[in-house]
Amino acid sequence: MSEKTQAELLSEQLFANEKNAYFEATQQDIDLAYKFCEKYTDFLNKSKTERLFAANTIELAKANGFTEFCPNKKYSAGDKVYVLHRNKAVILCVIGKEPIEKGVRIAAAHIDSPRIDLKPNPLYEAEGLGYFKTHYYGGIKKYQWPTIPLCLYGVIVKSDGEKVEVSVGDKPTDPKFVITDLLPHLAVEQSKRTLNEGIKGEELNILIGSRPFNDDKASQAVKLNLMKLFNEKYGIVESDFQSAELEFVPAFEACDIGFDRSLIGGYGHDDRVCAYPAVMAALNTNAPEKTVVTVLADKEEVGSDGNTGLCSAFMANFFNDLAKQQGTEGYIVLRNSQCLSADVNVAYDPTFSDVTEKNNTAFINKGVCITKYTGARGKSGTSDASAEYMGFIRKLLIDNKVVWQTGELGKVDAGGGGTVAMFIANLDVDTIDLGVPVLSMHAPFEVVSKMDVYMAYRAFYVFFN
Ligand code: MN
Ligand code: MN
Repeated sequence: MSEKTQAELLSEQLFANEKNAYFEATQQDIDLAYKFCEKYTDFLNKSKTERLFAANTIELAKANGFTEFCPNKKYSAGDKVYVLHRNKAVILCVIGKEPIEKGVRIAAAHIDSPRIDLKPNPLYEAEGLGYFKTHYYGGIKKYQWPTIPLCLYGVIVKSDGEKVEVSVGDKPTDPKFVITDLLPHLAVEQSKRTLNEGIKGEELNILIGSRPFNDDKASQAVKLNLMKLFNEKYGIVESDFQSAELEFVPAFEACDIGFDRSLIGGYGHDDRVCAYPAVMAALNTNAPEKTVVTVLADKEEVGSDGNTGLCSAFMANFFNDLAKQQGTEGYIVLRNSQCLSADVNVAYDPTFSDVTEKNNTAFINKGVCITKYTGARGKSGTSDASAEYMGFIRKLLIDNKVVWQTGELGKVDAGGGGTVAMFIANLDVDTIDLGVPVLSMHAPFEVVSKMDVYMAYRAFYVFFN
């Protein structure tokens, strides 16, 4: 092999050079990455809603020595505690050796994903078919959701206060549900609609049955039969849907993608592909220097408002409780703290390359992506991380051989989006976005790279340790 030219040597030294994780990682790393992703895929399959993700996380945490956080108790280094917040958000905390007034390390991801929710009065019958009316949740391309099998999860609170859990469609033998679409033969008019209107919000009606109640002349015999089934199975009457949270999500399972099995396809990678590695990093952290906190929030996909989203005080309240135990104040802890806002970013898609700017976008297999700012229309609606903090995180990743890259969410003015970063930064915490690049983000079936998932785990782990 010929020697490198002077120009080649100098460019290696001076040019920014993001590399493919397969060329940077050892074979052992690659094996670990694939093993890690098997467990991630399993977890994803049983955690398709924020409630399920939260419950499964708590189960894992308990099995790994975490106990329920008690605001009045005093904790010492190495103690591991959890908070299950209103069944939809989670905080995992490992108490560090340093006093918390010197700051903590936070990884914050969200565990809600775009989906199809039921309206409060969902059930109806039309010409012998039974349906649910829905109101979609989060930023979806509505045309992607018809003609795929859906399953249903959630809770119904009956008028006597009893709560029943609903889960239909996740077992192979369970029935599934579907939103129908028009056949192409008769879609002449529909085809003239814009893509955004191809399927309209009020057309996301879910087919749930067709069999009429047997021997009755009632005008809504199919609806009646369905209601009878619900009543037998859950003990509910129709008005109980008004106090329910019922979510339709894709019924198909996450799986390997590609002949080389290098990718994972599945529903809800955004943002469980960051949440799961952040949880695993917390579980594998023992007696760290600084106290480490993993926050799994709800409601990010609808703007983080509400008492389970990160616009609410639930995270700050936890720090206030923790601070009180150590004789300090929550705001002192927060202003000395550092956060990785763990959320996904767009992965460069060669088929739709014109929305991204190649020098500033994340690529599949180039590692975990750091995003200095998100937002839209000239960096509006974002926390733009400081050079100092970005420098700190870069050094941390380089020193620990974590493969990483930087990426913006698309070209300037091509669109944009936000994460929870700004809400945490607004609490005076140094915050930056770090997460896994995703293909087909917000689709019912999103794609990520196994190496990138593992590098996200490595990033959270070295941040905590
Ligand atoms: Mn996200
Ligand atoms: Mn999202």
